[in-house]
Amino acid sequence: MADASRQTLVGRAVLEDRVVGARIVVAGGQIEAIEEDDEGQNGPFLTPGFVDVHVHGWGGHDAMGNEAALDGMARALLRHGVTSFVPAAVTSPLDRLAAFADRVRQWSPAAPEDGAEPLGFNIEGPCISPEKKGAQNEAFIQLPSAVDRGALGPMLDGLRIMTVAPERDGALDLVRWLADAGVNVSLGHSNATAPEASQGYAAGARTTTHLFNAMSGVDNHRPGLAVAALTNDEVYVELVADGLHVERSVWPIVLRAKPATRLVLVSDAIGLAGTGDGRMWIGDLEVEVRNGECRLVSDGRLAGSVIALDTAVRNLVAAGVPLPLAVRAASRNPLELIGAGDRGTLAPGQRADLVELDDALSVLRVMKRGGWYPGAGPTGATA
Ligand SMILES: [Zn+2]
Repeated sequence: MADASRQTLVGRAVLEDRVVGARIVVAGGQIEAIEEDDEGQNGPFLTPGFVDVHVHGWGGHDAMGNEAALDGMARALLRHGVTSFVPAAVTSPLDRLAAFADRVRQWSPAAPEDGAEPLGFNIEGPCISPEKKGAQNEAFIQLPSAVDRGALGPMLDGLRIMTVAPERDGALDLVRWLADAGVNVSLGHSNATAPEASQGYAAGARTTTHLFNAMSGVDNHRPGLAVAALTNDEVYVELVADGLHVERSVWPIVLRAKPATRLVLVSDAIGLAGTGDGRMWIGDLEVEVRNGECRLVSDGRLAGSVIALDTAVRNLVAAGVPLPLAVRAASRNPLELIGAGDRGTLAPGQRADLVELDDALSVLRVMKRGGWYPGAGPTGATA
């Protein structure tokens, strides 16, 4: 239930283009009014709630687990300012993906109020390239021309994002079919040349799975998917801003190339995130977290992150990115990608999903639909 009482928040409101002292009136679970007020300059930062559209688990809970795991994941994310999320499956057999889709659909209406709100689900694969499989299980990768559309059909309802490698046989047809069904196709886990990638976007793909990771890159003689993604102003790019997936010195290339409206911060976090060092199985592959790095046990390959979007925003700002831009990349941009317009900005009529941050950008409290929940507080930035 939304908290119906009227309350006034005073702080530094992070708007799209600036930070202003402000007074925000919340009523009926929505933002009723926002006015500039110098008194707010002494208060906490107030940002729209963060939205993670690519997250495999958190707090010891795996998105592909049971309903209790989804509850746990949603609750763990909310403490980090993530008020909405899109749980993500890894490349798996189609029957397992269909079961995941069913489970998320059935669970979503009963998702806990004190957790991040689910907005559909994300499937990473299975029509990707074995050459750029990253930490996806090669045994379950399928050729787009051979994948059974009848088996994909039951997954479409609620499917917000699906990763496809555009250079594979039959991929462009699959991109068109998914786009026609309202799915946001994300190019990734791909060894495409830049022209092949551009064909994928032309066929209807709208976004890019963890830019630079598990894809053909910026090579002056063989430009790849990363070049096509960076030079097309329309398409979105995901960035895992933990400093491990993409070196910080590369971030300015992304920030200069992409319009501010097209950068999407994602965590790509795994279930062990927030639980310290340990091991777990993801899609039949064992991963180990040590000192904030998550790697496959078999070959040491990076296998997702252990951050949440609060750390991603903090890392970007520490690298010199203006706070409004970093916040937008963690809130409005992912929402626009998946077509959710009722939240994501500090404006009257929007859902009152907000994050209260201290000067160090640690999450003090989180507001979801007008109700307050405790924040995670200071958490060490990884790497
Ligand atoms: Zn992922």
